Amino acid sequence: MSSGDGMPWAGGVVTERATCILAPNPGPMTLDGTNTWVLLEPGATEAVVIDPGPLDDGHLARVLEVVTARGARVTQTILTHGHLDHSEAGPRFAELTGSRLRALGRGHDDLGDGDVVRDGGLELRVVATPGHTADSLSFALPGDHALLTGDTVLGRGTTVVAHPDGELAAYLDSLERIRRLTGDGDVATILPGHGPVVPDAAAMVAFYVRHRHERLDQVRQALADGAAGADDPVEDVVERVYADVPREVWPAARLSVRAQLAYLGIPLAPTP
Ligand SMILES: [Zn+2]
Repeated sequence: MSSGDGMPWAGGVVTERATCILAPNPGPMTLDGTNTWVLLEPGATEAVVIDPGPLDDGHLARVLEVVTARGARVTQTILTHGHLDHSEAGPRFAELTGSRLRALGRGHDDLGDGDVVRDGGLELRVVATPGHTADSLSFALPGDHALLTGDTVLGRGTTVVAHPDGELAAYLDSLERIRRLTGDGDVATILPGHGPVVPDAAAMVAFYVRHRHERLDQVRQALADGAAGADDPVEDVVERVYADVPREVWPAARLSVRAQLAYLGIPLAPTP
């Protein structure tokens, strides 16, 4: 989920190889809209598209325009995860372009951790980053020292751990993985699934790790302050800990609280 304001983001050419086309689906969970990424090695004619976004023909036409204006065609359509704001247009876009549709499982052409996607001189390395969802993948673009993170790290605010599919222990491990990539100098820039490009990847990941631990401390404190004995501990924790976020994102906050309570070993009632 997002909090805070910040600069508006409209996409555009971001690195030598990456161009963002912003989908027209802004909202409290999607920030400025979903970032659809066109990746193209300079001078090449084979483009890879990450997250075609929601099913919106006007948006897909704009993505195609960007690709054809460079004399290229789309050979691979890749999904960072299954949430519809990223994936819904996948089958349509793959059909429109005659490209392979690739993702982690779900009946698509399967991608997994350590796989290397090569096309037209472009190289992308798959980094499994579960936690936001179980199927969340990130993609390292070594040529630009960039990492495409989907919803694992956003350009603004913080993300939701979408319990029970998303899990906090996995998410913290994924942040640690990304932190190591930034520490090794492999990744300097984050190309997120929503919000602006992150020019200082290491600082953003440090903020994400700090934020997660602060929230966990707040949840522990809320439990100690009485939420543990409440009729509905999830709701009680949300009210105590997420008072600072807009109510329209409380449904997401409930998922993150469930993820945190599960992480802390607190028994949960089944999801309503
Ligand atoms: Zn998502």
